[in-house]
Amino acid sequence: MNKHILRSWIEVDFDRLESNVRNIKNSLPSDVKYIAVVKADAYGHCMPQALVRFLRGGADLFAVANLYEASRVREVVSDKKILVLSPVLKEERPLVFEYGATPALSSYPEAKAFDEFAAKSGRILEAHIKIDTGMGRAGVWHEKADDIVPQILSLPHIKINGMFSHLSSADTDRDYTFKQVEVFKGIVSKYADSGMLLHLHNSAALRYVPIEPPFNAVRMGLVQYGINPFDDGSGFEKLNLLSVLAFKARILALGLRDGKKIGAVCAGYADGVPAGFTSEARVLVKGRMCKILDCVGLDEMYVDLTGVDVKVGDEVTFIGEQEGGQISLSDYSRWTSRIPWETMVAIPRRVARIIK
Ligand SMILES: *Cc1c(COP(=O)(O)O)cnc(C)c1O
Repeated sequence: MNKHILRSWIEVDFDRLESNVRNIKNSLPSDVKYIAVVKADAYGHCMPQALVRFLRGGADLFAVANLYEASRVREVVSDKKILVLSPVLKEERPLVFEYGATPALSSYPEAKAFDEFAAKSGRILEAHIKIDTGMGRAGVWHEKADDIVPQILSLPHIKINGMFSHLSSADTDRDYTFKQVEVFKGIVSKYADSGMLLHLHNSAALRYVPIEPPFNAVRMGLVQYGINPFDDGSGFEKLNLLSVLAFKARILALGLRDGKKIGAVCAGYADGVPAGFTSEARVLVKGRMCKILDCVGLDEMYVDLTGVDVKVGDEVTFIGEQEGGQISLSDYSRWTSRIPWETMVAIPRRVARIIK
C-alpha cells in the first residue's frame, strides 16, 4: 500500500470466488463443461488476477465479449478455449487466430468471410454457431436455422465445435424460457454432432432448466460472483454462494443538522454511487444500518448517524459485511434501481481495488 489511505474502495475476496466456482462445478453432471463468463473485467472482479481462481475452481473454458478481452485472458491462460460471445468486426478477424479464440458465428456472410480468411491463412478455424431463439439480438434467427446452419456447416475451413443460444428472460419468465429451450433442442437435434459443445444455461437457468442431454456445457456469469439473479433470493441454497465483492468508504466529517448527527462520506457519483437512492437505502457504520440522505454529490454524500458512536475516518460499508451487519449487492442494487450486473460493472477507476 502506498502513503495514501483508502477513501473509497472495493474488496474482492478471491477465496470466495474460487469456492463459488468449485461449488457450481461440483453441482454439474461430470460430463458437463463449465464455461466461466469473465467479460467486463470478470464483472468488475479484477482481471487478470481472478483467472487463476477460476482455473483452480474448475473452469473448463472461458467466455468474453470481444477480442480485446480474449487477448487479456490468453496472456494468462494458454490451454483453455476462449469463446467470444459478441460478433467480431471485420478488422478483428485476424486476431481470432492470434489469440486462439473461438468466435460465435451469427450469419452465413460472416461465416463465409471467416472461411475465406482461414483458407488464406492455411488454417482451419474453430467456431460456435449462435442461434437466436428469441432474444432478438445477434445469432442465426431460429426460423432461418434450416437454411443457414447447413450452409455454415458445409464451409471447408471452418470447424463448428459448438452451438449455443442465450436466454433472454430466464430470471423473470419461465414459460418463455422453456419455449427457447425447446426451440434450441429442436435445432441441435438436427444439426449437432457428438463433438460439439451445446450450451444454453446462464446463471438463472441453472435454477430450473434441467442440465441433461443434449446440453453438455453451461455458461456461468453472475452466480460465480455469489449473486442470485432472482429477486426472491432463493433457489441456489445447495451451491452455498458467497458474495465476493464489498464496497466501502470512510466518514469524512461529522456535523449537526436539525438535531440529527450527519456524517459526510467520501464517496459520490464519481465513485459510482448513483445520484438517486430509494428511501430504504442504508449504509453500515459501526455495524448499524444508517439512512442515506438526499443530495449525493460528485465526491461526497451524507448519512444520518444519530445515535451511532462514530469518528471521522471510520469505515462506511455500502456493500458487504461489517460488525455483524450485512448489505448484499442485491439490496444495494435494488436501492439504486439497478440490476446486480450493472452494479458490478459500474465501479469507476477512482475506486481502489483490493484483492483479499
Ligand atoms: C453474459 C452472458 C452470460 C452470463 O449470464 P449470467 O446471467 O451473468 O450468468 C451467458 N451467456 C451469454 C451469451 C452472455 O452474454
